[in-house]
Amino acid sequence: MTSARHDGDTWDLASSVGATATMAATVRAIATRADPALIDDPFAEPLVRAVGVDLLTQLASGQVLPSDLVEQVWIDVAKVRTKFYDEFFLGATGAGITQVVILASGLDSRAYRLSWPTGTVVYEVDLPPVVEFKTRALAELGAAPTADRRVAAVDLRDDWPAALCAAGFDPERPTAWSAEGLLGYLPPEAQDRLLDNITRLSAPGSRLATESKPNPQPGQEDRTKERLHRISERWRANNFDTDMARMRYYGERNEAAPYLVGRGWVLNGITIRDLLAANNLQPLTGDDLRMGDLLYINAVLDG
Ligand code: SAM
Repeated sequence: MTSARHDGDTWDLASSVGATATMAATVRAIATRADPALIDDPFAEPLVRAVGVDLLTQLASGQVLPSDLVEQVWIDVAKVRTKFYDEFFLGATGAGITQVVILASGLDSRAYRLSWPTGTVVYEVDLPPVVEFKTRALAELGAAPTADRRVAAVDLRDDWPAALCAAGFDPERPTAWSAEGLLGYLPPEAQDRLLDNITRLSAPGSRLATESKPNPQPGQEDRTKERLHRISERWRANNFDTDMARMRYYGERNEAAPYLVGRGWVLNGITIRDLLAANNLQPLTGDDLRMGDLLYINAVLDG
């Protein structure tokens, strides 16, 4: 059973918050098979297979159908979310940015599958067991990065800017940053610190893509936990021992969107609801947890 989050806790791709990276890749594998026009992540399935959690491998490979284990809405969100971040990076590098940082890279394979302009450097940042596993697994699959890929294996609650700079990051050059599926797994103060550090390390014209979740209304967090407990019970009944409710940090936190505006970023945002509609996907139904209000942000640092 997963224990509650605490300072200095650690994980691999099958445990605690690390398993969320494998789940995200599982859903990308399912979505890639279902809708290749919207999402094409050919490394998602082999990476999940390499992690070796049986149920996730079976789902990723299509041996087990998603049915009630992976709701259709998660599959649709994976499609539009992947497309959003892919387009963000292609837009930023197309506009001349040659330095990219993927924070909490998990099993994200963009450094291996996007067409990066020549000379692009892509830094991936995640815990050591996560980045080391992906580097090894993709090498064993014979995959080669499509950019100059460098890694910073570090906890994002610690002094990650030092690790990033030691890997060669240059704060004088404009950067395209992503923090995809990360913020809710950081304590509130670590989220603020992360956004402050990104801002401090960003030359004018840098860009950032992330998500901004509205603060919960009264009772909403308890309903979220109940929902996550129910989902986890289904996973456990299928021999995958996980407890999704215990992977997050709860309580009030600064919403990322206004926080970034306060630090000089100019924001463009689109909600999940609008992203689904823009891609002709089913609207969310019964959205009492206000998932549709989650905002995908594409920000530029004024300068
Ligand atoms: N961005 C990837 C994607 O969308 O597929 C992975 C998202 S997954 C939901 C969350 C990721 O955040 C995991 O890879 C996990 O290791 C990473 N993560 C969470 N907290 C972290 C921390 N304190 N330091 C480094 N990585 C962290």
